[in-house]
Amino acid sequence: MTAKATYQFAGKTILITGGAGDIGKATAHRFAANGAGIALLDLNEPKMANVAEELKSYNVPVSTFCCDVTASDVGKTFTDAVKQLERIDYVFNNAGYQGVFAKTDEYPEDDFQKVININVVGVFHILKAAAQHLRDAGGGAIVNMASYAGVIGPPNMLAYSASKFAVIGMTQTAAKDLAPYGIRVNALSPALIGPGFMWTRQTELQAAVGSQYFDANPKVVEQQMINSVPMRRLGSLAEVANGVTFLMSDEASYITGFNLEVTGGQ
Ligand code: NAD
Repeated sequence: MTAKATYQFAGKTILITGGAGDIGKATAHRFAANGAGIALLDLNEPKMANVAEELKSYNVPVSTFCCDVTASDVGKTFTDAVKQLERIDYVFNNAGYQGVFAKTDEYPEDDFQKVININVVGVFHILKAAAQHLRDAGGGAIVNMASYAGVIGPPNMLAYSASKFAVIGMTQTAAKDLAPYGIRVNALSPALIGPGFMWTRQTELQAAVGSQYFDANPKVVEQQMINSVPMRRLGSLAEVANGVTFLMSDEASYITGFNLEVTGGQ
């Protein structure tokens, strides 16, 4: 993967959680192509090491931090990242888990807790640590990864939907709380993004639920979903990265508390 430069982030550094995943990786490539140093944070050490290896071609500083965003001391990563990269200017709070797909009356308690723990408590940990660091550093920008599921509440995704509504709520409150420190906080809400793990997983699992909303064949589900958006196609990982770079850039300098829907229209 090679990304083209679109904004100037030379001399800046971004910390990306979920940096080993599809969106984290695409965004890391984009920021590195624009000159930013990269701090990747993920649970999956081997995948993260592969991404770090790919990023070497941009000649920017890259560090990796294998940690769990649900751990209450994950914030110390910021201190370690600043030691290694000298500064953190932007934080992409992106790590997340989609949960199982089940109707509300059958939704498993343990998975509900797991989704909320990663997508809400984990996002809170990173948001709080980012707020403290950027406040002390004199300002910066945060993008929290939400989802269109946090706007509409799709069928069979009770925990995920709850978690992403929460992310949008935290974004709006944090934007108000942190504006006095020169910190902008926005959310990004993609819908149908692919190809990638989450796209394949969601079409397969929606098909398997056996609800009135989707066919039992994942290939048909793909088409049903694509037909539900005006642009009649999937969004790409590059189009998600476009949204993140814009929200972090100086071109968005008066934008905070905003939820950018990368959906192809709904
Ligand atoms: P992905 O599964 O490829 O990446 C998610 C990454 O998060 C993985 O590398 C995983 O190891 C990491 N992660 C999970 N739990 C963690 C934890 N406790 N601590 C640290 N890292 C952890 O998925 P993706 O498609 O890249 O999704 C990234 C984000 O975008 C998620 O928050 C997801 O909900 C959101 N999102 C994705 C889509 C989509 O269609 N791909 C759409 C809307 C929103």
